[in-house]
Amino acid sequence: SIQWMLLSRFASRITTHLIRNMSDFKDKEMALANDLVQFLTSSPSPYHCVQTSKAMLSRAGFVGISETNLKDWKNIQPNGKYYFTRNQSTIVAFAVGGKWVPGNGFTAMGAHTDSPVFKIKPVSKTTGTGFLSIGVAPYGGGLWHTWFDRDLSIAGRVIVANDDSSSFEHKLVNLIRPVLSIPNLAIHLTSGDERTSFKPNRETHFVPILASVVKAELASPQPNTKADDEAKKVDTELNNHHPLLISLLASELKCKPEDIRDFDLNLFDTNAPRIGGALDEFIYSARLDNQAMCFITLTSLINSCETLDNEQNIRLVALFDNEEIGSQSNRGADSRLLPSVFERLNGPETLDSALQKSILISADMAHGCHPNYAGKHEPNHKIGLHHGLVIKYNSQERYATTGLSSFLLREVARRHSIPVQQFSVRNDSPCGSTIGPMLSAHCGIRTVDCGVSQFAMHSIREMCGVADILHSTDLLTHFFNDFSELDTKLSVD
Ligand SMILES: [Zn+2]
Repeated sequence: SIQWMLLSRFASRITTHLIRNMSDFKDKEMALANDLVQFLTSSPSPYHCVQTSKAMLSRAGFVGISETNLKDWKNIQPNGKYYFTRNQSTIVAFAVGGKWVPGNGFTAMGAHTDSPVFKIKPVSKTTGTGFLSIGVAPYGGGLWHTWFDRDLSIAGRVIVANDDSSSFEHKLVNLIRPVLSIPNLAIHLTSGDERTSFKPNRETHFVPILASVVKAELASPQPNTKADDEAKKVDTELNNHHPLLISLLASELKCKPEDIRDFDLNLFDTNAPRIGGALDEFIYSARLDNQAMCFITLTSLINSCETLDNEQNIRLVALFDNEEIGSQSNRGADSRLLPSVFERLNGPETLDSALQKSILISADMAHGCHPNYAGKHEPNHKIGLHHGLVIKYNSQERYATTGLSSFLLREVARRHSIPVQQFSVRNDSPCGSTIGPMLSAHCGIRTVDCGVSQFAMHSIREMCGVADILHSTDLLTHFFNDFSELDTKLSVD
């Protein structure tokens, strides 16, 4: 019948529409996941993470300012977009609403640039075993056993002297190719007991090998070079590290070995971040905690600038160093950095009132429910991959989320039909913490702790789902757009 024909034509139109919408989502999801993979690949250290963030912000029209240049701060204007860095390992970006006046609020988001890694010790030269090895120290709480048998490289920043040593510069370095390895001990040399209670010693068992003495001697037939004589006279980095390591850095930096004055370097896995799974739905990478949230908050801030003209608030993203060791440093979340930025931008008089109109989204990765360890999750709070951003609650305030702050985020999610999840840890399990509670306390600001769910947090290779990157970026973009208006509709004493 005609009716049937019309109905089936209508149905097929709906199906085509649905498929188109789904494939739209799929295209966006993959494009964003690929951008994140790029971000992770170019960020093997916190210094590189900040560098990558700066590049993203500059492309989006944000202007670099300096904490030490008073004029920069005087010239901040409504509709302006700015960023500054501290120690090149923390970065703060902000966009001033077109309708902003002092006393209006801040819509702020925070994340962290650091991850658990091995850092090269101040004196790293280790020999005597037939190998040139490098002394390293663990930073943060890593799943250190995952660092064995990896093709490791070195990245970070180096202080370099110019030609006549009259000035000094900090330069980023990334050796890119694998130059170090920490081999496992063969199964034949370990007893069954040793294997079941596998407990590598953090001092003696994690000493990466750079080269064999045999090959190193062949590579530099005259050990008494001029640089070595120079090194004996003064305390330079040449005394403290294998010349081979210094020459690798120098050739990468295109400087002389003796110009290298100091550094902050960490190891990283050269296995590049990748999208995988039979259906291309997972991201495998180091540092998802927390560079994924750095990428998502920055992308959201940049996307939200379309509506900046009509905004009352200042929208801000702060990416801190040193979360993994408790945030206590001059560039960590436990410092005066964020309170002083708020004061600098708003001025002192109306600051307290402005802070009570503000909110902070503390963005740090969350734990998805691992299918092989499902019992580790509380049955009512089992977190999935692809099910949206996770809001984290803890009755002991290890997370700063309250019913009120979570309502604001969930209301934005509801308005735009974006999925979110809620997480609370089992009562018999330990719980992590993050920058949310300390920032909330220091700034006196409402805070939501949330993050994308992942597996294998703090492993050298972590894993998350591609859909969550898009869900979370959509949600946080809308949150930047909607918060100041939504907050006027909420009355609380
Ligand atoms: Zn984290």
